[in-house]
Amino acid sequence: MWLRSLIVVSVLAASLSGMSCAAADTLEAPSVDALTASARRAGLRVLEGDHLVLVTDRPARVGDGVEDLPRIFDEAWAAWCGHYALDPAAHEKWRAFGCLVVDRERFRTAGLLPDAIPDFANGHCHLHRFWMADQSNPAYRRHLLLHEGVHAFTLTLRSLDTPPWYTEGIAECLATHRLDDDDNAGGTLVRFVPSPLPLRATDVEQLGRIEAIRALRTAGECPGLADIFATPGANHRDLSAYAGSWAAVALLSLHPRHAPTFAAAERGPLDPQFNRRLMETPGWDGNQAERDFDAFTDEIDYGYDFTRSAIDWAPSRPLDTRQTVAVAAGRGWQNSGWSLRKGARSSLKATGRCTIGTLTGPAAEPPLRLETEANGISLRWYRGRPLGRLLVAQWVEQPDDGGRPRFVVVAEGEDRAFTAATDGTLFCKLNDPPGELADNDGQLTVEIEPE
Ligand SMILES: [Zn+2]
Repeated sequence: MWLRSLIVVSVLAASLSGMSCAAADTLEAPSVDALTASARRAGLRVLEGDHLVLVTDRPARVGDGVEDLPRIFDEAWAAWCGHYALDPAAHEKWRAFGCLVVDRERFRTAGLLPDAIPDFANGHCHLHRFWMADQSNPAYRRHLLLHEGVHAFTLTLRSLDTPPWYTEGIAECLATHRLDDDDNAGGTLVRFVPSPLPLRATDVEQLGRIEAIRALRTAGECPGLADIFATPGANHRDLSAYAGSWAAVALLSLHPRHAPTFAAAERGPLDPQFNRRLMETPGWDGNQAERDFDAFTDEIDYGYDFTRSAIDWAPSRPLDTRQTVAVAAGRGWQNSGWSLRKGARSSLKATGRCTIGTLTGPAAEPPLRLETEANGISLRWYRGRPLGRLLVAQWVEQPDDGGRPRFVVVAEGEDRAFTAATDGTLFCKLNDPPGELADNDGQLTVEIEPE
């Protein structure tokens, strides 16, 4: 599994290098109509939506999804207006001109790929124009088109000139999507659904952001939030920089503690001082953001539920007598309210029964509630432990094995003596993927007693 994800990451790193954008207006700016006329004269296919003219030398092929791209772009465009609180009616004439390129020479000859455009590997955006190399995977082609589309949108409508983590991170977050079937009178259409934190790997074939962060974590090389804020643009040549920028914007825009502050900062100027503007926005808490980001990358997974996984980092009291703690099945790490000194011996005893998920499908009709006690159920394992197993952990700032701060499990199961790994609070949860907490129910009762 580890080997496979390494291979995936290295293949993606190669395929992604060279995605870039340009803020400086170094090219003459022909109108979309003039560019479209040039494309038609050169015999290129022209696909038009309300907000995108897409020209390509890719031959028409049934079922490749290219015909749908302008309509999906328009749906995404409406979502981008929503993100920035722009009135779509005020910008209804806004259009991007995109080139989906198989043979660059044809576009050069047609006057549609100026020499001033750098030799991009995947895509490049200049104001309302973008170029992208055709991709074999339809989902990844769509993602890349929308990524460049977000650049065109933000460069022109928001005059974006921010540090690279925001430029690339917002392009990644606003481009990440799935397609849902939309049944209507005219038949079934696929419809753009924003999913900045994808629910399933099959929704985002070849994207590999979550896998990249996991690989960096495993290697002890995952960046912290401050590292990402300081990443220079030149480093956005490899997958890990894109993955880090995406993860930072995903956390800041989806975590309930940070989203209002981040949204307020995004409504202000998107200029080179954006980092400082964010940090000066009322409500910004840099220490919490840094720690929440480490907690996110520690447990990143498809469908990660920022609300149910949000952690209360409030200080706790020293555990000096036996205490009883309730652990909800439907939440991630929960502050027990009690702390231990490093090396202190304690014991725990957990009782109760709760629901850790629901089995659905033909084999479970009606749906079957999966019940667990503190030892968990061996039907399914997650991260090396039975699903539903009680986990007790402490947040360790400097783990023995290096890398970023993370939770270290000090005890698990229903009846256990354990030793504290550090000075600090005990956190408890049931072992369950952070994207699958919503169908849990009930709680366990945990007694913790110092020895
Ligand atoms: Zn980009």
